[in-house]
Amino acid sequence: MARAIIYGIPVSPGLAQGALKRLHGAWRSDRRQIAADAIADEEDALNRAAATVRSGLEKTLAGLDAPLADYGEIVAAQMELASDPRLLGAALARIRHRKICAAWALEETVAELCELFRGMDDPYLRDRAQDVRATGLRLGAALYGETAKPSASVGILAAEDLSPADVMELEPKAILGILTSEGGPTSHTAILARSLRVPALVGVTGLADAAREGEMVIVDGLSGRVLLSPDEADLARFAEKKDAYESWESLARATAHGPAESRDGVRIAVRANLENGAALCDLAEYGAEGVGLYRTEFSYLGKKLPSEEDLVAEYGAVISRLSPEPVIFRTLDVGADKALSAHAVLREPNPALGLRGIRFSLAHEDMFRTQLRALLRVGIKGNVALMLPMITDSREVRSVRRILHELRHELAASDIPHAERLPLGIMVETPAAILTADALARECDFFSIGTNDLIHYLLAIDRNNRHVAYLHEPLHPAVLHSLKRVVDAAHREGIPVSVCGEFAADPYGVALLLGMGIDALSAAPRFVPGIKHLLRKLDAETCAELTHTVLNLPDASACRSVLHERLHGALGQELSFLATNHARPCLP
Ligand code: PEP
Ligand code: MG
Repeated sequence: MARAIIYGIPVSPGLAQGALKRLHGAWRSDRRQIAADAIADEEDALNRAAATVRSGLEKTLAGLDAPLADYGEIVAAQMELASDPRLLGAALARIRHRKICAAWALEETVAELCELFRGMDDPYLRDRAQDVRATGLRLGAALYGETAKPSASVGILAAEDLSPADVMELEPKAILGILTSEGGPTSHTAILARSLRVPALVGVTGLADAAREGEMVIVDGLSGRVLLSPDEADLARFAEKKDAYESWESLARATAHGPAESRDGVRIAVRANLENGAALCDLAEYGAEGVGLYRTEFSYLGKKLPSEEDLVAEYGAVISRLSPEPVIFRTLDVGADKALSAHAVLREPNPALGLRGIRFSLAHEDMFRTQLRALLRVGIKGNVALMLPMITDSREVRSVRRILHELRHELAASDIPHAERLPLGIMVETPAAILTADALARECDFFSIGTNDLIHYLLAIDRNNRHVAYLHEPLHPAVLHSLKRVVDAAHREGIPVSVCGEFAADPYGVALLLGMGIDALSAAPRFVPGIKHLLRKLDAETCAELTHTVLNLPDASACRSVLHERLHGALGQELSFLATNHARPCLP
């Protein structure tokens, strides 16, 4: 038996075994009150540390190479942070005003800034606490004249937090797996691990206390487990699972380019969800049939709002790369909880129920018109569709049609080429949209069900609140009945319907949605080969019967056991290979 098993959130799939190497040890606590005549020395020490960190990062930046070349901006951001008044300036002020040593001042300043970021509702901004923490760890190490580098032979990298700069200083090939005690699914650690294609767990509970330098560990990036000092039997089980997973993955990859058709000939389009153009090259490799959800928020997170020309360039590049495959652009999905730094937003008591998605866009029409003009202009370059988030009322769709009509006139009057007709769809993600799906289907050209928000609003659980994460249940009968209702309404009105939330990459989700008659699924690119592979093994007719049975069950546990029993029989271990993102905390 292993010495201990600890758990984390799987953010990059796969299995690895190796010696554990800790990156920059735990924060060294040096909390000294200092005399007035020592202030200047402590300030100097901190300024020197900042200069060392900056020049180290500068060298790293200069030597950037694939597969980490895309992370230059993050290293540059950390370089900036190392001299940012909110970090360096505030720590220097603490030394002076509180007469405390540099390390203590730094520790307090970093903790305060991290708290500030972690308190933000937007997961993207919340994860930026990681940059502050990573820069703080580097400054702390430089204060003691240490470098952040572990030995050249890495194995499994363990750290409180990891930044791209840390990884860039190592030999990527030597990193077999990554474990961090901090970080979330959208953190740099997660994104980096996926680029390096190594298994990774974030938020590993008890990592700092349990992990011993050099100890042999097994990282299971499928189930979220870490085995410390595994015994012979553990190692044998690990080797077997790793072999099975790797053959499954290469088989899924090898067949990713073919269409996904069930055993009885039902064809389902499998597309990718994209956050920006960065992951475009993955799409061809993963066999995605276009983009089912292009989240347009990311170009709005900078200090300046993007111009129409910026958006035409961004969207145009995606379309020309993917044409003739379809690209579905979702219009801006922000709200008071996802603050745009370039735009003053309201402070609302219940941001999730406030000016979000389409409501924000209709309330800030100038900004919305800029985005729609860009989309109309790029619409002539390929197979483009528009999709509106957070719809609760048909009138919202009609308002957008009216604006589009006006913009077409404007563009025509200025002789600017644009699309005369673009399919307009909606995200179905609110209870109101589910209950009025028939009426909404008559207003638009397609539906895409956003199960992430649908679960959040239908089950009344904030998707960003870890205290209610245990209630997140895609198999809740309320969710399943809603999905069926929406699919049926779309088909009654003759429009196609897809799912683009995480349920589309859940094996139970794939089987149930096939059984309900879904037309397309859209998920993170790396899930596409696995979804296609699974669809080819399923029979739509049998899945329809299974769906019928499941819809008559009283609760999620009953659904789960029926699904497990039926699908495990047909798919065996494969069932655990696809859904790496769905490890869920247990009921308290
Ligand atoms: C969803 O809500 O399911 C969805 C796909 O959109 P997002 O996760 O961007 O809110
Ligand atoms: Mg959503």
